[in-house]
Amino acid sequence: MKVRKLKGFETIEHLHINQHYFAKVLPNKLVSLNKNLRAKVINKDDLDVDKEVAVLITKVSPPFSVECKVIDQEFEIIDEDAKDISSLNLEDVGKRFSFHCVVEEIFQTSGPTLFTIFDGSGALTAKSFVGPGKRAFPELVEKSAVKANVLVSERDGNIECVLESFERLEDVKEDKLLQKIQEKLNEKAAPSNISFMVKSEILEKLRPKIVELAREIKKAILESRPIIVRHHADCDGYCGGIAIERAVIPAIVDQHKDENAQWRYYRRAPSKAPFYEYVDVIKDLAFALQDMAKFGLKEPLVILVDNGSTEEDIMSIKKIKIYGAKVVVIDHHFPGLLVDGKVLVDEFVDAHVNPYLVGGNSKLTAGMLASEIARFVNKDVVNIDFLPALAGVADHSDGSEFNQYIDIAKNKGFDLAYLNDMALCVDFEAYYLKFIEGRGLVDDLLGSDIAKHKKIVSLMIPDIVEKNAQQLEVAKHFAIEEDLGKLVLVKIDILKCSFEGEYPPPGKLGGLLHRFMEEKHKKPVITLSVGDNFASIRVSDSLTDFNINSIVHELSSLKPYCFVSGGGHEHAGSIKFIESGKVEVLDYVVGCVKRC
Ligand code: MN
Repeated sequence: MKVRKLKGFETIEHLHINQHYFAKVLPNKLVSLNKNLRAKVINKDDLDVDKEVAVLITKVSPPFSVECKVIDQEFEIIDEDAKDISSLNLEDVGKRFSFHCVVEEIFQTSGPTLFTIFDGSGALTAKSFVGPGKRAFPELVEKSAVKANVLVSERDGNIECVLESFERLEDVKEDKLLQKIQEKLNEKAAPSNISFMVKSEILEKLRPKIVELAREIKKAILESRPIIVRHHADCDGYCGGIAIERAVIPAIVDQHKDENAQWRYYRRAPSKAPFYEYVDVIKDLAFALQDMAKFGLKEPLVILVDNGSTEEDIMSIKKIKIYGAKVVVIDHHFPGLLVDGKVLVDEFVDAHVNPYLVGGNSKLTAGMLASEIARFVNKDVVNIDFLPALAGVADHSDGSEFNQYIDIAKNKGFDLAYLNDMALCVDFEAYYLKFIEGRGLVDDLLGSDIAKHKKIVSLMIPDIVEKNAQQLEVAKHFAIEEDLGKLVLVKIDILKCSFEGEYPPPGKLGGLLHRFMEEKHKKPVITLSVGDNFASIRVSDSLTDFNINSIVHELSSLKPYCFVSGGGHEHAGSIKFIESGKVEVLDYVVGCVKRC
């Protein structure tokens, strides 16, 4: 027989007639149900004092009088404390539980006070109402370790609870609880040990770094640490950002048992530059500090996708780290020279995955890496199988991994032609989204609902194809081609070939022109798309000596007065400079082209 043991704080109100409880025999035909509540035994008078028995409650008359029968049977006490927050479900609504937990956040609404409690397994919103906008339990502060006595309730299909009372834990118990929470966290944050989607030596070499990075993300979810995904605003960056999003959001919702938690603990933001620009970090920091002050949220975990690996990222990373944020990087841009297996940015980030760290290169794109990582974060992640192929198509990847990803996408119904269309659409949409997150919009764009997706693509593609073709006609006409024997140098005054603010943007147009010229000349091509204060550069794969990042470095030390910055991939990137430096910078770049 199973019996309930009345908790210390429970009173006569919590007793139910005709239910079995645990009791201890007292003298004079009495038993104690807990330290405050006694019951009169009506069926026996020869019981040994202090004996532990099962009783059936027969009569309850508040405020004091309870009657019961002692049942002579073996019994087992229902262990309600064995329940942890993560195991709560809608069947528990209306039941009472006690959790040893830490109060993570306290937020005063215009109605009740909301406490986020966390027991290492999951977090739960516990509300308490003493008057509109009035702080309940003012003695309860953030980071308190308590035994929380709650009544489970439901709101819009999500589980929450009412905090009925709490007991502060003694120091020893608090230490034990914190230790237990840490152990549970580590256990739950351990990424699933799975194989990759494709066979890849580089991915295998990256495995320890991938596991470490996935662990940081899982830990952030479990600790209710808000997550900011910062990704490059191109198709590869979007694929990577969305892969992480599709793993993280369901995990956050599950952790908090609340659909709305995704708006509180998750944000994604595209970055125009292929690095973590200062303007981006300022935005992230401003929002994070506001959320910390307003809602008692923790410092965020920033996940940089398709940016974050290079020297240009360091300033912003250092800045947000000052405020206690964590930063992890998933990137495939050239991160600079390896010294003892490390690059410059490694000193400042909490985890870093980049193929260059293990002898790979940018062919394993950020979208591919992030999709693999997404599976380590959440083994139940869905709808990401085609993202690596899409990212690869958009970033002009090739090689063994790329081919395998293409096969996977094909099996899911996305052939190469469709992936190409999709990449065009993402690029187009990204151009107009600029820095907007557009969660639902982007999710649809990246195929969360296939029927809707096909409609979107077939609506957009004719328009994009036409725009690109018109722009290419213009570019072809005004481009200057110079055959240097080994290669063809193509130069174009790009800003004079398009209308400002219209798709395709200059960098994109340069790419279109570059691919056209490669086809036309059937030999290597370097395309310089020049603006007043920038040059966007595309280089054919076979010119392995050419590295845009090295040129940027050389220029900034040789011509400091030109304010040179930029970079990107070795063969696709851009150089920024002040307008007065244009002639000198271009002369230098053309010199490099001729020497190559
Ligand atoms: Mn990329």
